[in-house]
Amino acid sequence: MIDYKKRITSLLERIEADTFLVFNLEGTDSASMYYLTGFTGEGALIISGSETLLLTDSRYTEQVKREVPEIASKKITGNYLDAVVGTINSKSIPNLVIGSSRISHYFVETLKKRVETVIVSMKDPVQELRKVKDPEEIKRIRAAVNLTQASLSELIEGIKIGMTERQVALRLEFIMREKGAEKVAFDLIIAAGENSALPHYRPKDRKLRQGDLLLCDIGAQVDGYCSDMTRVFSIGEPPTQAKEIYNIVLQANRAGRDQVKAGATGIAVDGAARRVITDAGHADHFGHGLGHGVGIEVHESPRLSPLSKDILEAGMAATIEPGIYLPGFGGVRIEDLVIVTEEGCDVLTSFPSDCLAQIG
Ligand code: ZN
Ligand code: ZN
Repeated sequence: MIDYKKRITSLLERIEADTFLVFNLEGTDSASMYYLTGFTGEGALIISGSETLLLTDSRYTEQVKREVPEIASKKITGNYLDAVVGTINSKSIPNLVIGSSRISHYFVETLKKRVETVIVSMKDPVQELRKVKDPEEIKRIRAAVNLTQASLSELIEGIKIGMTERQVALRLEFIMREKGAEKVAFDLIIAAGENSALPHYRPKDRKLRQGDLLLCDIGAQVDGYCSDMTRVFSIGEPPTQAKEIYNIVLQANRAGRDQVKAGATGIAVDGAARRVITDAGHADHFGHGLGHGVGIEVHESPRLSPLSKDILEAGMAATIEPGIYLPGFGGVRIEDLVIVTEEGCDVLTSFPSDCLAQIG
Protein backbone atom coordinates (compact mmCIF):
# COMPACT_ATOMS: atom_id res chain seq x y z
CA MET A 1 0.00 0.00 0.00
CA ILE A 2 1.19 3.49 -0.81
CA ASP A 3 0.86 6.10 1.90
CA TYR A 4 -0.28 9.14 -0.11
CA LYS A 5 -0.99 11.16 3.05
CA LYS A 6 2.65 10.78 4.05
CA ARG A 7 3.80 11.94 0.62
CA ILE A 8 1.60 15.02 0.83
CA THR A 9 2.83 15.81 4.34
CA SER A 10 6.45 15.48 3.16
CA LEU A 11 5.73 17.77 0.22
CA LEU A 12 4.19 20.50 2.39
CA GLU A 13 7.14 20.27 4.80
CA ARG A 14 9.59 20.55 1.91
CA ILE A 15 7.97 23.59 0.29
CA GLU A 16 7.31 25.35 3.62
CA ALA A 17 4.10 26.82 2.26
CA ASP A 18 0.37 26.32 2.76
CA THR A 19 -0.63 25.18 -0.67
CA PHE A 20 0.78 23.42 -3.72
CA LEU A 21 -0.73 23.30 -7.20
CA VAL A 22 -0.29 20.42 -9.63
CA PHE A 23 -1.52 21.13 -13.14
CA ASN A 24 -1.64 18.17 -15.49
CA LEU A 25 -3.06 18.53 -18.97
CA GLU A 26 -1.77 16.45 -21.88
CA GLY A 27 0.66 14.79 -19.50
CA THR A 28 2.41 18.02 -18.42
CA ASP A 29 2.69 16.75 -14.85
CA SER A 30 1.20 13.29 -14.76
CA ALA A 31 4.18 12.24 -12.62
CA SER A 32 3.27 14.54 -9.71
CA MET A 33 -0.43 13.76 -10.05
CA TYR A 34 0.23 10.03 -9.93
CA TYR A 35 2.84 10.20 -7.17
CA LEU A 36 0.70 12.31 -4.84
CA THR A 37 -2.65 10.61 -5.39
CA GLY A 38 -2.47 7.56 -7.67
CA PHE A 39 -4.77 9.30 -10.18
CA THR A 40 -3.78 8.66 -13.81
CA GLY A 41 -6.10 11.16 -15.49
CA GLU A 42 -5.84 14.85 -16.26
CA GLY A 43 -6.74 17.80 -14.11
CA ALA A 44 -5.52 20.09 -11.37
CA LEU A 45 -4.69 19.25 -7.80
CA ILE A 46 -4.82 21.86 -5.06
CA ILE A 47 -3.06 20.51 -2.01
CA SER A 48 -3.10 22.15 1.39
CA GLY A 49 -2.65 20.94 4.95
CA SER A 50 -6.39 20.66 5.46
CA GLU A 51 -7.49 19.14 2.15
CA THR A 52 -6.54 17.78 -1.25
CA LEU A 53 -8.92 18.88 -3.98
CA LEU A 54 -8.89 17.35 -7.44
CA LEU A 55 -10.41 19.38 -10.27
CA THR A 56 -11.17 17.21 -13.24
CA ASP A 57 -13.75 16.85 -16.00
CA SER A 58 -16.46 14.47 -17.13
CA ARG A 59 -14.02 12.22 -19.01
CA TYR A 60 -12.69 11.10 -15.64
CA THR A 61 -15.82 10.83 -13.48
CA GLU A 62 -15.72 7.03 -13.33
CA GLN A 63 -11.95 6.91 -13.14
CA VAL A 64 -11.94 9.18 -10.08
CA LYS A 65 -14.32 6.78 -8.31
CA ARG A 66 -12.05 3.84 -9.08
CA GLU A 67 -8.64 5.37 -8.50
CA VAL A 68 -9.08 8.06 -5.85
CA PRO A 69 -12.42 7.57 -4.09
CA GLU A 70 -11.01 9.08 -0.88
CA ILE A 71 -10.04 12.43 -2.44
CA ALA A 72 -12.41 15.41 -2.64
CA SER A 73 -13.02 16.10 -6.31
CA LYS A 74 -14.91 18.69 -8.31
CA LYS A 75 -16.07 18.22 -11.88
CA ILE A 76 -15.36 21.27 -13.99
CA THR A 77 -17.27 22.14 -17.14
CA GLY A 78 -15.37 25.12 -18.57
CA ASN A 79 -11.66 25.55 -19.02
CA TYR A 80 -9.13 24.50 -16.42
CA LEU A 81 -7.43 27.85 -16.02
CA ASP A 82 -10.74 29.53 -15.09
CA ALA A 83 -11.56 26.69 -12.72
CA VAL A 84 -8.20 26.89 -10.96
CA VAL A 85 -8.43 30.69 -10.66
CA GLY A 86 -12.00 30.47 -9.32
CA THR A 87 -11.12 27.82 -6.77
CA ILE A 88 -8.02 29.62 -5.50
CA ASN A 89 -9.88 32.92 -5.18
CA SER A 90 -12.69 31.22 -3.27
CA LYS A 91 -10.26 30.10 -0.57
CA SER A 92 -8.05 32.29 1.55
CA ILE A 93 -4.66 31.03 0.43
CA PRO A 94 -1.76 33.30 1.43
CA ASN A 95 0.79 31.65 -0.84
CA LEU A 96 0.72 28.99 -3.50
CA VAL A 97 3.72 27.00 -4.69
CA ILE A 98 3.95 25.73 -8.25
CA GLY A 99 6.49 23.39 -9.86
CA SER A 100 7.77 25.81 -12.49
CA SER A 101 9.43 23.16 -14.66
CA ARG A 102 6.02 21.52 -15.11
CA ILE A 103 3.74 24.50 -15.80
CA SER A 104 3.73 26.73 -18.88
CA HIS A 105 4.82 30.33 -18.71
CA TYR A 106 1.42 31.37 -20.07
CA PHE A 107 -0.39 29.55 -17.26
CA VAL A 108 1.75 31.13 -14.54
CA GLU A 109 1.53 34.64 -15.99
CA THR A 110 -2.25 34.36 -16.22
CA LEU A 111 -2.52 32.97 -12.71
CA LYS A 112 -0.43 35.84 -11.31
CA LYS A 113 -2.74 38.40 -12.93
CA ARG A 114 -5.97 36.80 -11.78
CA VAL A 115 -5.44 35.49 -8.24
CA GLU A 116 -4.96 37.33 -4.95
CA THR A 117 -2.53 34.71 -3.71
CA VAL A 118 1.27 35.09 -3.82
CA ILE A 119 2.61 32.60 -6.39
CA VAL A 120 5.95 31.03 -5.45
CA SER A 121 7.93 29.16 -8.12
CA MET A 122 9.97 26.11 -7.20
CA LYS A 123 11.56 24.00 -9.89
CA ASP A 124 9.98 20.63 -9.18
CA PRO A 125 9.63 19.81 -5.47
CA VAL A 126 7.67 16.62 -6.16
CA GLN A 127 10.52 15.22 -8.22
CA GLU A 128 12.85 15.97 -5.30
CA LEU A 129 10.59 13.85 -3.08
CA ARG A 130 10.47 11.10 -5.70
CA LYS A 131 14.25 10.63 -5.67
CA VAL A 132 14.20 8.18 -2.76
CA LYS A 133 11.94 5.23 -3.46
CA ASP A 134 9.87 3.39 -0.88
CA PRO A 135 9.71 -0.43 -0.85
CA GLU A 136 6.53 -0.54 -2.95
CA GLU A 137 8.16 1.62 -5.64
CA ILE A 138 11.27 -0.57 -5.66
CA LYS A 139 9.05 -3.63 -6.03
CA ARG A 140 7.38 -2.10 -9.09
CA ILE A 141 10.68 -1.02 -10.66
CA ARG A 142 12.02 -4.52 -10.10
CA ALA A 143 8.93 -5.99 -11.79
CA ALA A 144 9.49 -3.69 -14.79
CA VAL A 145 13.15 -4.75 -14.95
CA ASN A 146 12.27 -8.44 -14.77
CA LEU A 147 9.65 -8.12 -17.48
CA THR A 148 12.14 -6.28 -19.71
CA GLN A 149 14.78 -8.94 -19.20
CA ALA A 150 12.40 -11.83 -19.89
CA SER A 151 11.24 -10.04 -23.04
CA LEU A 152 14.80 -9.51 -24.25
CA SER A 153 15.62 -13.20 -23.73
CA GLU A 154 12.64 -14.17 -25.83
CA LEU A 155 13.46 -11.57 -28.47
CA ILE A 156 17.06 -12.59 -29.09
CA GLU A 157 16.12 -16.23 -29.70
CA GLY A 158 14.21 -15.08 -32.78
CA ILE A 159 16.66 -12.50 -34.16
CA LYS A 160 17.90 -13.33 -37.67
CA ILE A 161 20.24 -11.68 -40.14
CA GLY A 162 18.16 -9.63 -42.60
CA MET A 163 15.57 -8.43 -40.07
CA THR A 164 15.26 -4.64 -39.86
CA GLU A 165 15.78 -2.59 -36.71
CA ARG A 166 12.11 -1.59 -36.89
CA GLN A 167 11.00 -5.24 -37.02
CA VAL A 168 13.15 -6.06 -34.00
CA ALA A 169 11.76 -3.09 -32.04
CA LEU A 170 8.17 -3.93 -32.91
CA ARG A 171 8.67 -7.57 -31.99
CA LEU A 172 10.13 -6.60 -28.63
CA GLU A 173 7.28 -4.22 -27.88
CA PHE A 174 4.80 -6.97 -28.73
CA ILE A 175 6.54 -9.40 -26.38
CA MET A 176 6.59 -6.83 -23.58
CA ARG A 177 2.89 -6.07 -23.97
CA GLU A 178 2.09 -9.76 -24.07
CA LYS A 179 3.95 -10.23 -20.80
CA GLY A 180 1.85 -7.51 -19.15
CA ALA A 181 3.69 -4.22 -19.70
CA GLU A 182 1.34 -1.20 -19.66
CA LYS A 183 3.49 0.30 -22.37
CA VAL A 184 7.09 0.73 -23.37
CA ALA A 185 8.84 3.07 -20.95
CA PHE A 186 10.26 5.10 -23.90
CA ASP A 187 10.69 4.69 -27.65
CA LEU A 188 12.78 1.52 -27.76
CA ILE A 189 16.25 2.04 -29.20
CA ILE A 190 17.28 -0.80 -31.49
CA ALA A 191 20.37 0.23 -33.44
CA ALA A 192 22.43 -1.94 -35.77
CA GLY A 193 25.99 -1.49 -37.00
CA GLU A 194 27.02 2.14 -37.54
CA ASN A 195 23.66 3.32 -36.16
CA SER A 196 24.63 2.13 -32.67
CA ALA A 197 27.04 5.09 -32.56
CA LEU A 198 24.00 7.40 -32.12
CA PRO A 199 23.10 7.28 -28.40
CA HIS A 200 19.42 8.21 -28.94
CA TYR A 201 18.82 6.57 -32.29
CA ARG A 202 15.32 5.71 -33.59
CA PRO A 203 15.01 2.30 -35.32
CA LYS A 204 14.75 2.46 -39.12
CA ASP A 205 14.85 0.05 -42.06
CA ARG A 206 18.51 -0.87 -41.66
CA LYS A 207 18.83 -4.67 -41.96
CA LEU A 208 20.94 -6.71 -39.55
CA ARG A 209 24.16 -7.92 -41.16
CA GLN A 210 26.93 -10.32 -40.20
CA GLY A 211 29.43 -8.61 -37.86
CA ASP A 212 27.05 -5.81 -36.76
CA LEU A 213 26.83 -4.59 -33.23
CA LEU A 214 23.18 -4.58 -32.14
CA LEU A 215 22.43 -2.09 -29.39
CA CYS A 216 19.15 -2.57 -27.49
CA ASP A 217 18.25 0.25 -25.04
CA ILE A 218 14.91 -0.89 -23.74
CA GLY A 219 12.41 -0.52 -20.92
CA ALA A 220 8.85 -1.29 -19.96
CA GLN A 221 6.30 0.33 -17.69
CA VAL A 222 4.68 -1.85 -15.04
CA ASP A 223 2.23 -0.48 -12.43
CA GLY A 224 3.22 3.07 -13.35
CA TYR A 225 6.97 2.49 -12.94
CA CYS A 226 9.70 2.24 -15.57
CA SER A 227 12.76 0.18 -16.23
CA ASP A 228 15.73 1.17 -18.39
CA MET A 229 18.48 -1.20 -19.54
CA THR A 230 20.94 -1.42 -22.44
CA ARG A 231 22.58 -4.54 -23.76
CA VAL A 232 24.72 -4.89 -26.89
CA PHE A 233 25.10 -8.05 -28.95
CA SER A 234 27.14 -9.04 -31.94
CA ILE A 235 25.44 -10.48 -35.01
CA GLY A 236 27.77 -13.40 -35.61
CA GLU A 237 31.51 -13.05 -35.03
CA PRO A 238 32.34 -9.47 -33.88
CA PRO A 239 35.19 -7.41 -35.33
CA THR A 240 38.18 -7.01 -32.98
CA GLN A 241 37.42 -3.31 -32.45
CA ALA A 242 33.91 -4.15 -31.23
CA LYS A 243 35.31 -6.55 -28.63
CA GLU A 244 37.85 -3.92 -27.54
CA ILE A 245 35.35 -1.15 -26.93
CA TYR A 246 32.91 -3.58 -25.31
CA ASN A 247 35.50 -4.58 -22.74
CA ILE A 248 36.40 -0.97 -21.93
CA VAL A 249 32.72 -0.05 -21.46
CA LEU A 250 32.22 -3.11 -19.30
CA GLN A 251 35.10 -2.08 -17.04
CA ALA A 252 33.69 1.47 -16.89
CA ASN A 253 30.27 0.12 -15.97
CA ARG A 254 31.73 -1.95 -13.13
CA ALA A 255 33.91 0.96 -11.94
CA GLY A 256 30.77 3.13 -11.79
CA ARG A 257 28.73 0.48 -10.02
CA ASP A 258 31.52 0.02 -7.46
CA GLN A 259 31.36 3.70 -6.47
CA VAL A 260 27.63 3.73 -5.81
CA LYS A 261 26.62 3.98 -2.17
CA ALA A 262 24.81 6.37 0.12
CA GLY A 263 26.89 9.55 0.47
CA ALA A 264 28.67 9.27 -2.90
CA THR A 265 28.27 12.26 -5.20
CA GLY A 266 26.86 12.05 -8.72
CA ILE A 267 30.12 13.60 -9.89
CA ALA A 268 32.30 10.94 -8.21
CA VAL A 269 30.35 7.98 -9.57
CA ASP A 270 30.40 9.46 -13.07
CA GLY A 271 34.10 10.22 -12.69
CA ALA A 272 35.04 6.66 -11.74
CA ALA A 273 33.48 5.25 -14.90
CA ARG A 274 34.60 8.12 -17.14
CA ARG A 275 38.22 7.69 -16.03
CA VAL A 276 38.29 4.14 -17.42
CA ILE A 277 37.08 5.38 -20.81
CA THR A 278 39.40 8.40 -20.79
CA ASP A 279 42.42 6.27 -19.85
CA ALA A 280 41.64 4.00 -22.80
CA GLY A 281 41.82 7.03 -25.11
CA HIS A 282 38.08 7.36 -25.75
CA ALA A 283 37.23 10.53 -23.79
CA ASP A 284 35.78 12.12 -26.93
CA HIS A 285 33.58 9.10 -27.59
CA PHE A 286 31.58 9.30 -24.34
CA GLY A 287 29.62 12.54 -24.39
CA HIS A 288 26.64 11.89 -22.13
CA GLY A 289 26.33 11.58 -18.36
CA LEU A 290 26.82 8.22 -16.66
CA GLY A 291 23.30 7.80 -15.40
CA HIS A 292 19.97 9.10 -14.18
CA GLY A 293 17.20 8.27 -11.77
CA VAL A 294 14.33 6.03 -12.90
CA GLY A 295 10.86 5.71 -11.43
CA ILE A 296 7.49 7.03 -12.57
CA GLU A 297 9.50 8.72 -15.31
CA VAL A 298 12.32 7.10 -17.20
CA HIS A 299 14.61 10.09 -16.72
CA GLU A 300 14.40 11.71 -13.31
CA SER A 301 16.60 12.75 -10.40
CA PRO A 302 19.28 12.01 -9.31
CA ARG A 303 21.76 12.65 -12.11
CA LEU A 304 25.18 11.05 -12.33
CA SER A 305 27.32 13.34 -14.47
CA PRO A 306 30.22 15.80 -14.32
CA LEU A 307 27.62 18.54 -13.65
CA SER A 308 25.55 16.66 -11.07
CA LYS A 309 24.64 18.35 -7.80
CA ASP A 310 23.20 15.16 -6.33
CA ILE A 311 24.44 13.17 -3.37
CA LEU A 312 23.21 9.59 -3.37
CA GLU A 313 20.91 8.32 -0.64
CA ALA A 314 19.80 4.80 0.18
CA GLY A 315 16.65 3.96 -1.78
CA MET A 316 17.48 6.00 -4.86
CA ALA A 317 17.18 4.19 -8.20
CA ALA A 318 19.78 5.08 -10.83
CA THR A 319 21.18 3.82 -14.09
CA ILE A 320 24.87 3.23 -14.73
CA GLU A 321 25.32 3.54 -18.48
CA PRO A 322 28.76 4.34 -19.83
CA GLY A 323 29.24 4.15 -23.59
CA ILE A 324 31.78 4.47 -26.37
CA TYR A 325 30.49 5.65 -29.73
CA LEU A 326 32.69 5.49 -32.83
CA PRO A 327 31.15 7.42 -35.74
CA GLY A 328 30.74 5.26 -38.85
CA PHE A 329 31.58 2.09 -36.95
CA GLY A 330 29.16 1.66 -34.05
CA GLY A 331 28.77 2.03 -30.34
CA VAL A 332 28.54 0.10 -27.11
CA ARG A 333 26.60 1.11 -24.02
CA ILE A 334 26.06 -1.17 -21.04
CA GLU A 335 23.26 0.12 -18.85
CA ASP A 336 22.29 -1.32 -15.50
CA LEU A 337 19.66 -0.14 -13.06
CA VAL A 338 20.69 -0.12 -9.40
CA ILE A 339 19.15 0.75 -6.05
CA VAL A 340 21.48 2.68 -3.77
CA THR A 341 22.09 1.13 -0.32
CA GLU A 342 24.12 2.29 2.70
CA GLU A 343 26.99 -0.03 1.77
CA GLY A 344 26.80 -0.07 -2.04
CA CYS A 345 23.97 -0.96 -4.35
CA ASP A 346 21.56 -3.71 -5.41
CA VAL A 347 21.87 -4.27 -9.14
CA LEU A 348 18.34 -4.98 -10.39
CA THR A 349 19.41 -5.79 -13.96
CA SER A 350 20.76 -9.33 -14.04
CA PHE A 351 20.71 -9.91 -17.80
CA PRO A 352 24.25 -11.14 -18.60
CA SER A 353 26.66 -8.47 -19.82
CA ASP A 354 30.10 -9.85 -18.92
CA CYS A 355 31.08 -10.50 -22.53
CA LEU A 356 29.93 -9.47 -26.01
CA ALA A 357 27.42 -12.23 -26.76
CA GLN A 358 26.87 -13.44 -30.32
CA ILE A 359 23.34 -13.85 -31.61
CA GLY A 360 21.59 -14.32 -34.97
ZN1 ZN B 1 18.43 3.35 -21.51
ZN1 ZN C 1 19.07 5.41 -19.30
